[in-house]
Amino acid sequence: MGVSIKNDTKLRVGLLGGEPWSTKMRDRIRDWLGVKGINCYGSSEMYGPMFTECSEQDGIHVWGDIAYAEVLDQETGERVAPGERGELVLTMLQKEALPMIRYRVGDITEINTEPCPCGRTHPRIRRIFGRVDDMLIIRGINVFPSQVEHTLMSIPEVGDHFEIVVDRKGALDTMLVRVELKKEAFTDNIIQLMELRERIAYRLRGALNIGAAVELVEPDTLQRFEGKAKRVVDRREI
Ligand SMILES: [Zn+2]
Repeated sequence: MGVSIKNDTKLRVGLLGGEPWSTKMRDRIRDWLGVKGINCYGSSEMYGPMFTECSEQDGIHVWGDIAYAEVLDQETGERVAPGERGELVLTMLQKEALPMIRYRVGDITEINTEPCPCGRTHPRIRRIFGRVDDMLIIRGINVFPSQVEHTLMSIPEVGDHFEIVVDRKGALDTMLVRVELKKEAFTDNIIQLMELRERIAYRLRGALNIGAAVELVEPDTLQRFEGKAKRVVDRREI
């Protein structure tokens, strides 16, 4: 509509949630819209989005008078130490009609009980790393779509959309990452595109500990989604 949010509006802060997003995506939102992205967290079974970051932007405060947060080992169900990754389990302390005791939210995070520089003593969870049911196991290695996003968003030529296609050839899992380029990065110079594709594959291999094929696609070709994006196509028959 010809309005620049950055220059023509006074919008400076956005409370953003809904699906896991990386710090690199936050940087892009800041550069593009001039908006400070505050991560917030919740689920409809609780009170909706209710836990938020403070101005330090270093973890989401879980308000301790409303919820008791634990992080558990997914396999043993035992509590893990602060700073270790596991599944978030919440006990809501003020709900009455629908009590919720040690509710397995299905999100993977770490808990941080250190005092926050903002002065609040409510524990913090790190940004949500992924969903228990999002985790892909490819050739025996755990892969989260959020790791792929984080890696791709740190490459300037890459646009905001990607798709992961997992398949199985014989006994071997294959992973293809389809990457949409920014308009200004798309070129008909094949050598440049091959060099870029190699660079993306190299970065992904370093981040995931697993090799992935990379396909570059033109801007505006991957499917867009209302609400939560569907990034993974798993064609394996198991
Ligand atoms: Zn704080």
